[in-house]
Amino acid sequence: MNGIQPERNVVKKDHRKVRLRFALAYPSPYSVGMSNLAVRLLYELINSREDCLCERFFFSGFRTPPVSLESKLPLSAFDVVGFSLQHEIDYLRMLDMLDSSSIELFASRRKRPMVIAGGPAASSNPAPLEDFIDLFVIGESEPVLDYLLESLSEGQNPRQLAGSRPGLYASGLEAERGRVDSLEDAPHAVRQVHPVSGQGFSSTFLLEVSRGCNRGCRFCLECFLYRPRRERSFRKVREILEQGLHLSGLDRVTCISSAFFDHREIGDILAWMRDRRLRYSLPSMRISKTGRDVAELLAAGGQRTITIAPESPSSRLREVINKPLDESELMGLLEASRRAGIRSLKVYFMVGIPGEDMSDLEHLRPMLAGAISAGFDPRSIHVSVNPMIPKGNTPFQWARIVSESEYKSRVSRMRQICSDLGIRRFESMDYRWGAVQASLSISGREASSLLFLALKDISEGGQGDLGTWRRVLKGIGRDFETIQPTYSEDDALPWELIKGGPTKSLLLREYRRAFGGQV
Ligand code: SF4
Repeated sequence: MNGIQPERNVVKKDHRKVRLRFALAYPSPYSVGMSNLAVRLLYELINSREDCLCERFFFSGFRTPPVSLESKLPLSAFDVVGFSLQHEIDYLRMLDMLDSSSIELFASRRKRPMVIAGGPAASSNPAPLEDFIDLFVIGESEPVLDYLLESLSEGQNPRQLAGSRPGLYASGLEAERGRVDSLEDAPHAVRQVHPVSGQGFSSTFLLEVSRGCNRGCRFCLECFLYRPRRERSFRKVREILEQGLHLSGLDRVTCISSAFFDHREIGDILAWMRDRRLRYSLPSMRISKTGRDVAELLAAGGQRTITIAPESPSSRLREVINKPLDESELMGLLEASRRAGIRSLKVYFMVGIPGEDMSDLEHLRPMLAGAISAGFDPRSIHVSVNPMIPKGNTPFQWARIVSESEYKSRVSRMRQICSDLGIRRFESMDYRWGAVQASLSISGREASSLLFLALKDISEGGQGDLGTWRRVLKGIGRDFETIQPTYSEDDALPWELIKGGPTKSLLLREYRRAFGGQV
């Protein structure tokens, strides 16, 4: 039980009979955490070892000491606490989970438990967390997991482990990124723990057919952090599904790979799932001729919404970010989707792409009018807008988030265009959250003091919301617009001790090409 509903494939072990007790902590609510395949995979892999046990912790509110779902024990009852960090916004919740469990925050003063962290945010730039974390797992964890568990259960010092294998990093020590060479041979979670019924993706079988993406969109962390794209063969995917659906008792599949539609055998995979009468949902569609062909297969899986991410309505800006799209293919995809019975459309845009001005946004009108003429009812179109947030290890690590006033005026213009077309479902990220993310994503170690101050505000009654961040920034004489650091092309970057990712010269070349509009 997760406190609310029953789960399947829960593992409960005797704490006295293992050498290493591992707390797998996800600093988001249960339904979000359980929609993450890494959580299910690590849970299964760690528990498959006789000498280890793994229990799960989720975030259920600031100043609420978390307890494990399996045995209701606190974090301090475990030898190792491992955090999976997807976004920078997780950092404060992670620190609160430790602090409210009376665990010393600073790694240099902490005796136990050992605290490790991994996931895309920490892998991109661990620097803001280095004061708090004993050891980072940078990049993909599968190749190093057994070695790490064995070393930890022998009581090895985390700083000695850093750099000893690719993927293990501690502050100030050189390390390589971890990477799976062959996804075909890498383990996939098959006995997936999940709620018997639940929201979103949490009660579906999560399927990874490929990892990484080669398309090179210049803002995209997935692309530059998990290069090159690797895939599992159709034969392997079928094996995973046959075994996994049986062991998990599920008949719904969620495909999580970003480059799903680039898979060489995509048609075979979808047709197989359709013929097995599985219900499935797919990530955002790639706009291409093949997208048109798969619209029917998509609808056959029960999906009634198609999601696309053109990022900008302007073809000029899509060249700046290196995500070109053919507008006739977009129309073809939308028309084919409507013909296949797909009723709703979700479209993602970014505001603040370098070089953007108001005139670029005027292209939104013909783009959405095209969707309406393809047959989508304006009331079934959902538009979502975020600021472009620069991420470390991408070509846009040298860019800045747009200013607050520009963001607000551009979002307001986009909202007006949508409203003129009868599109009422329009959401945009609050600029201030984007600014906090932008800062934490590329700051150095000095950002740990911001996190510490935010945690202090929470301990004094703050809610961990924008009010907390406003008070923190006011206290140090800063504001949301100015907290993001900027780097010149010659500056050393906080994550440069970690090797094995994209080289600085490649990122710089791509950054410069962005302004030449080259793809
Ligand atoms: S296509 Fe998607 S996943 Fe691939 S690089 Fe572009 S934004 Fe990233």
